[in-house]
Amino acid sequence: MIEPRFTLGDTVFMANYERKETSIVCPDCLGSARVRVILGDGTELKIECGGCDPGGYQQSTGRIRQYEYAIKIIKRTVTGINLGDSDVEYRMDGHDGHCYIGSQNGDFRVFATEDEAKIGGEMLRQKHEDEENRRLLAKTKNHKTWSWNATYHRNNIKRLEREIEYHRSKVEICKSRVKEEI
Ligand SMILES: [Zn+2]
Repeated sequence: MIEPRFTLGDTVFMANYERKETSIVCPDCLGSARVRVILGDGTELKIECGGCDPGGYQQSTGRIRQYEYAIKIIKRTVTGINLGDSDVEYRMDGHDGHCYIGSQNGDFRVFATEDEAKIGGEMLRQKHEDEENRRLLAKTKNHKTWSWNATYHRNNIKRLEREIEYHRSKVEICKSRVKEEI
């Protein structure tokens, strides 16, 4: 069991993270939103870049969303303590209606002084920023997925072409029948 550093009514400081949206040029397509893929049989294709694909039916943009984090130190009063096995959780209700949860050792840490919160918060700021930006870059450098996507789309085109051919043949048969009947 860990010893709680603060008690009810103590004034504590916490770093609050504010993020600002930025973007970088996609490292895979260098902003063109298209990449060239060479398949196993030597076929060369240009496909939509998977690295900067925003998902869904949206087109790749050539850029990837990133965030810049800034810290803002907030001063609160401890209004609740939750003793865990490896960490202590502090609850800080404010008169503004916002409730903050911080802990002694976790990623959102509670400090005794403003200076301590600035230093500790800055160290964790980089961690939060890196984690989020890494997650947003997760689709890049994924060459296996690209060739899979290319093969997938090509197979779908082939299948749909066969279907169109089939339906067209049906329509043509009907047309020729109509002619015969006339
Ligand atoms: Zn891209």
